Amino acid sequence: MSHHFTESEERRELRKAVAALGARYGERYFYAAAQEDRKTTELWSEAGKLGYLGVSIPEEFGGGGGDIGDLAAVCEELAIAGCPLLLMVVSPAIVGTVIAQYGTQEQKERWLPPLADGSQIYAFSITEPDAGSNSHNLTTHAARTADGWVLKGGKTFISGVDEASHILVVGRTSDQRTGKLKPALFMVPTDAEGVTWQQIDMGVISPEKQFTLFFDDVHLPHDALVGSEDAGLEQLFAGLNPERIMAASMATGTARWALNKAVAYAKERDVWGKPIGAHQAIAHPLAQLHIDIEMARLLTQKAAALYAAGDLMGAGEAANMAKVAAGDVAARAVDTAIQTHGGNGLANEYGLVQALAASRLSNIAPVSKQMALNFVAQFSLGLPKSY
Ligand SMILES: Cc1cc2nc3c(=O)[nH]c(=O)nc-3n(C[C@H](O)[C@H](O)[C@H](O)COP(=O)(O)OP(=O)(O)OC[C@H]3O[C@@H](n4cnc5c(N)ncnc54)[C@H](O)[C@@H]3O)c2cc1C
Repeated sequence: MSHHFTESEERRELRKAVAALGARYGERYFYAAAQEDRKTTELWSEAGKLGYLGVSIPEEFGGGGGDIGDLAAVCEELAIAGCPLLLMVVSPAIVGTVIAQYGTQEQKERWLPPLADGSQIYAFSITEPDAGSNSHNLTTHAARTADGWVLKGGKTFISGVDEASHILVVGRTSDQRTGKLKPALFMVPTDAEGVTWQQIDMGVISPEKQFTLFFDDVHLPHDALVGSEDAGLEQLFAGLNPERIMAASMATGTARWALNKAVAYAKERDVWGKPIGAHQAIAHPLAQLHIDIEMARLLTQKAAALYAAGDLMGAGEAANMAKVAAGDVAARAVDTAIQTHGGNGLANEYGLVQALAASRLSNIAPVSKQMALNFVAQFSLGLPKSY
């Protein structure tokens, strides 16, 4: 029986190296890119070249051959440095996992190496305006033709479409016999004829933007279909655990980033002849955050370890719990850090107020807190399904 509660030596080395990369960029770089309407291209390509983006992609396809816990560590360390990269949750974690597990050899050879080295980004689109959290109501439809497929429909809140070469689209096909609709996954080039998008005016301050997408009779070749037409849902679920583990890691990273800033300020700011951190009203919420971040991280690491060991149901439970715990602590950490800074908490110079909207993100996307709680209520506690 193992008595180690820490991550492997290799993982800890990876964290150190990524933290050093993150420190060279940091929140000033991230916010400047957002405000000047630039992308984090330099950071993204450097992380790609160093092998961090592809750390969980199999080695034969240009990756590092690690697991989702390694990728989550990369995402967390960059967030701790003030660079929460949402597209890491999407491109290597969701799309990379689905292609690596269900793509054909040819699809893996085509799409994974550029993902691993950061030269291509893939968006992921499931959310539709009228379906929301209820993916049974998706209407984007792919009809079979002699040459392949014709895709029609639309998506909303899709991140990074402007940076992506392809979008992995969750659509539906009609069963040849019954006519019933079933989910299926398609890789759609962003420059395909009939694909258009419109940026959504979001309050989140980030270089990564959200878009409404339109598919107007988009012609796709046969091999745009990823995996089997008949196993769509199972394939989709393959991407869900990595997505939750990554979202949780981005959230614990953001929480740690905010806590670090608050602690530094509480040690230094002095208005009564001693640092404000000497007041328990300031110190205790920070101590509580330290505990809650650690709990959320442990749950996230447990989810990653179970996923790597192939226990999908166990990983699903831990990943949903981790996501709720991490989403809550991220929102509270940014809020508490702002309070610790007094007026400076709302001054742009201190770099906290900019994170306010983003700190709410993990409770909404990629799956809402309520849907994660529904999972725990139903599968962990055996309560009746409410929807
Ligand atoms: C910044 C950002 C980036 C995003 N990026 C992407 C992306 O790249 N790709 C993509 O596909 N999507 C993306 N999304 C969409 C995101 O996944 C959805 O917003 C999310 O799944 C919730 O769906 P909805 O907004 O339609 O909310 P709704 O489904 O309308 O839900 C509204 C509220 O009702 C609650 N609710 C709904 N159903 C239930 C229920 N059965 N029980 C209890 N409560 C319920 C929800 O939890 C929520 O609080 C992004 C969203 C944001 C904000």
